[in-house]
Amino acid sequence: MKHKLKMTVREAWARLLYHTGLHILVNRLMPRRLTILTSHCVAHESNAFLPPDMKIEASRLKQLLAWFGRHYDWVSVGDGWNRLQEGAGRSMVVLSMDDGYHDNLEALLPILKDHDATATIYLESRPLSGQSLNWTHKFFWLLARISHRELVERYVAISQDEVACQRLQTVLGEEGRLTYTLKKVLKYEADQVDVDSTLTAIFVEHGGDEPALCQGLYLSWSDALALKEAGVELGGHTIHHYVLSGLDAEGQQLEVGRGREQLEERLGPLESFAYPFGRMWDWNRDSQEAVRSAGFVTATTTHAGTNTSSTDPTRLARWMIEDSTPMHLLACEACGGFELLRKFGLDLSE
Ligand SMILES: [Zn+2]
Repeated sequence: MKHKLKMTVREAWARLLYHTGLHILVNRLMPRRLTILTSHCVAHESNAFLPPDMKIEASRLKQLLAWFGRHYDWVSVGDGWNRLQEGAGRSMVVLSMDDGYHDNLEALLPILKDHDATATIYLESRPLSGQSLNWTHKFFWLLARISHRELVERYVAISQDEVACQRLQTVLGEEGRLTYTLKKVLKYEADQVDVDSTLTAIFVEHGGDEPALCQGLYLSWSDALALKEAGVELGGHTIHHYVLSGLDAEGQQLEVGRGREQLEERLGPLESFAYPFGRMWDWNRDSQEAVRSAGFVTATTTHAGTNTSSTDPTRLARWMIEDSTPMHLLACEACGGFELLRKFGLDLSE
């Protein structure tokens, strides 16, 4: 089916189920599901410089929590997966947040309490000590202060990675979303140690203070414990937030396994993990093996879909939510509406 027609049918089907209430019937007919929503933070003064697709406004989140709470049980990923294996019961929804941002305690937790909901928060272990954060934050922090051109010029002057420098200069001359394309080059084509040291040098030139930025942006160990005591599930998200597929098997075992140990030493046992970045090309079979050998029960991706008891637990689907995410698409996926059509041979997944 042509893509445009497929998207039109997808929209129409989702709107029909959502606006007529048919989603309630479909939900009853379809096998029990675990739908996992995901973002990084609630918009808050501490994360103002992060891009809009990483966060959700409190008012929008409240709408989502209220709607899902009427039709589904709120669970954590760990609890939801266990319940899914037990068989009968209502379908479930999880709110997950990645990386471990400071707003998760100050802005998210009060909203969860108001809606009788819980969440799973996946933590990078390194920033919890309040000293350092991964390069993406310095990248966004710099772009809130200097132009893309200025950033690339300084990068080229400092970096030892000639291939990356050439690619960044080429991208600068192209049309399109510069922040996205520059980040993509740095993420997939550049030497990660060089990216880290080069962006750190530019960050310092502009008065950046890494411990201060880290402490303002991320949760501390005691914040994470406070979330756990409030009933939120904590999960692993590696030490450094590298693209796992860019590392060899041993490097991945270290990031996943040692990351888990570091968290467990301070926060107690963990069973859930999320792949950094989470797209299919960001992790591979070695990552799934690293997840299993580290002792995690589940691992989540950032590919859209819902999960049933037969889903591979090391590749659970999640729906990215942001302010513009249409409610009818979320509702259709959560009730099994897209899965129902797949049974009839019509695949409307994006
Ligand atoms: Zn992440």
